Formats: sequence, structure tokens, C-alpha cells
Amino acid sequence: MTESTLRIVPEATEFNAPYWTAAREGRVLLQRCVDCGLVWHPPAPTCPGCRSHAVSWVASSGQGTLYSYTRVEHSVHPAVADAVPYLVALVELDEGPRFVCTLIEVDDTSTLCATTRVTVGLGPAAAGLQLPVARCSRAGADDPIDPTRPA
Ligand SMILES: [Zn+2]
Repeated sequence: MTESTLRIVPEATEFNAPYWTAAREGRVLLQRCVDCGLVWHPPAPTCPGCRSHAVSWVASSGQGTLYSYTRVEHSVHPAVADAVPYLVALVELDEGPRFVCTLIEVDDTSTLCATTRVTVGLGPAAAGLQLPVARCSRAGADDPIDPTRPA
């Protein structure tokens, strides 16, 4: 079994295809309602606020605040057996939506708290995908995620 057949690969649909296309280009897109202005993630066919079908796509600033995280110690699938332990974060993006991603480059989890600023970007994964990753922002630094750095 090759890595690409073993890994869990998200399926592109008519509703999320723009997200995955932008992700391959290193950009994080969010959906925005044309009628009420709500911004959300993950992609959906209608606005979760007003059920409008008038949906547009906007680029995320990639800036947010750590809302919560967990440390995964045991793999639940052979595809991620070599990745444990790793951190999974729930980030509240400055645009509003909460975003699930891998939290990287954390040496000491005791420094993490609900006010920790993070930068969200994309990192290489199996099958040519770019999956969301976050790392703690450094004070005063405008330091985007390096897409060539392993997640
Ligand atoms: Zn709406």
C-alpha cells in the first residue's frame, strides 16, 4: 500500500472545491454570505446564519486566537500511526469562524492558553494536499506559515 492510498484524503465536492483549489495554491479561503455578511468554515452550500444561497469566497488573514487544543497520543487509524503524538487545535480566526488544524512547533504546551495568538496556514500532506496548520505567533512578527516546512 502506498502512502497516498493509505492516507485519509478529503473529498472535494461542488461546495468545497474552491477551498481545496485555493489550498493547493497555499491560500486559506472562507465562505462569506453576500446577504448578511457572516463568514464561516467549513464550506457549506448555504449560509448557516440566514440560509441564503448567495455565497462568496474570501481569503483568510490567517490570524487568530487559540480557542482549545488537544494532544493526540494514540492513532485511531494506521494512516496517522507515525504522526503521534501531535497537537490538534481549534483556532478562532479573526474573521470569526473556528478552524480545526494541526498545531505545530510547540515545545512546551504549558505556554498555551485561550489568548495565545496563532497564525494559520497550509502545510504539505499526502496526495499533494495542503492541510491547515497553525503555530504560535511571535509578538510583533508578521511571520506567515512556511508552506515548505513539514507539518
Ligand atoms: Zn447569511
